[in-house]
Amino acid sequence: MVITIVLRVRAFRMKWCSSSGAASARRLLMPARETEAIILKTFPLGEADRLVSFLGRTSGRVRGVASGARRLKNRYGSTLEVLSHVQLWYVERETRELVRIQQADLLESFHKAQSDYSLSTGLAVISEISELILPEHEVSEPMFRLILLAVREIERTGDWNLPLSYFAFWTVRLGGWLPRFDRCVVCETRFGAKPAFYDAHQPGLFCEKCRRPGMKPLHIEARNLAERFAGERLDRIEYQKPMQASARELREAALDWIEHHIERRLMTRELLEST
Ligand SMILES: [Zn+2]
Repeated sequence: MVITIVLRVRAFRMKWCSSSGAASARRLLMPARETEAIILKTFPLGEADRLVSFLGRTSGRVRGVASGARRLKNRYGSTLEVLSHVQLWYVERETRELVRIQQADLLESFHKAQSDYSLSTGLAVISEISELILPEHEVSEPMFRLILLAVREIERTGDWNLPLSYFAFWTVRLGGWLPRFDRCVVCETRFGAKPAFYDAHQPGLFCEKCRRPGMKPLHIEARNLAERFAGERLDRIEYQKPMQASARELREAALDWIEHHIERRLMTRELLEST
């Protein structure tokens, strides 16, 4: 027991005091790690602190404590809002799972989206999905860029319809759960111009003959939109009124596939219906 403790202390010293005394003393006071990050979620912790889940560009998804973040005057300001894009400094602690967040600087403000009820609902869906599908400590550059792109477009256009469809579609695609869009998963008949069918209980798209009761249609227009999403950046696609039905159909299908994969319902999904 004693030996273990001594070894731990030694390992800790090795880590922190590898260079000269003065430099290492200074390093103890300095933040250990720095990363560009997106705030995924925060919860109140005790009376003054906040528990923060963030996706670091170089750290992956990490959870940490922002001490004093709930005090009226605190050093974090509005940086810990959902989906804020920040530069973050934190210290990992040897024995605890949570890191200690030291500082956060706002890189980009999404204030309009964060303070509007309808738009913030869109942000909440992105936040919940990211939180559920991203494994801890695993770097994901494509997801980092996807989240940022979707949030920027919600902020810029003041509408979550297209960004959320794009985000849900690409999340499914990056997850590797996208079914074939051209033929039935059971009998391999090509859909052509006919609708395909899906639900949250099985992966894949079904033809009219193989469809199960309760399945919803994914029409040719929605499948064509998926093809556009696959080949064009969100901020280059102009959202026009006639696209609304297809964007919705594609989003609903993608959200069903995400729910199928994570084996649970998304809490924020029904809020979309009410905005
Ligand atoms: Zn079929």
